[in-house]
Amino acid sequence: MTTTDTADCLFCRIARGDIPSRRVYEDEDLVVFHDIHPAAPVHLLIVPRVHLGSLIDAAPEHEPLLGKMLLLAPRLAREQGAHDGFRIVVNNGTGGGQEVFHLHVHVLGGPRPWRQMSTGR
Ligand code: AMP
Ligand code: ZN
Repeated sequence: MTTTDTADCLFCRIARGDIPSRRVYEDEDLVVFHDIHPAAPVHLLIVPRVHLGSLIDAAPEHEPLLGKMLLLAPRLAREQGAHDGFRIVVNNGTGGGQEVFHLHVHVLGGPRPWRQMSTGR
């Protein structure tokens, strides 16, 4: 299921600033903030300002945006304290365990133990 009503979309509302978040980065295309329920000492969410439900909804025109999201991850992971590497997770659709239907890249890092991430089921 893809939310197309951006007025009701949690991450659209966070990107607009209607709902507070612990923001660590923003530019004209992206906002990045701490996950409210972190699974690791560093747990960031890289979120495009444009509403895109998931990678299932991505089109060729989104290629630069998707590349930008991935290229930002190592820099922010390092800045936030993940100095020895990080993990990227992107859940897509209910079958992929996605819970918020606005595309986002999880960036996880820092010392173990990490919490098991929800699988959505
Ligand atoms: P996913 O299962 O990939 O859709 O992940 C959604 C993530 O959003 C979960 O890790 C939640 O903890 C996180 N989340 C939900 N609400 C908020 C919020 N208000 N601010 C920051 N993160 C949130
Ligand atoms: Zn949205």
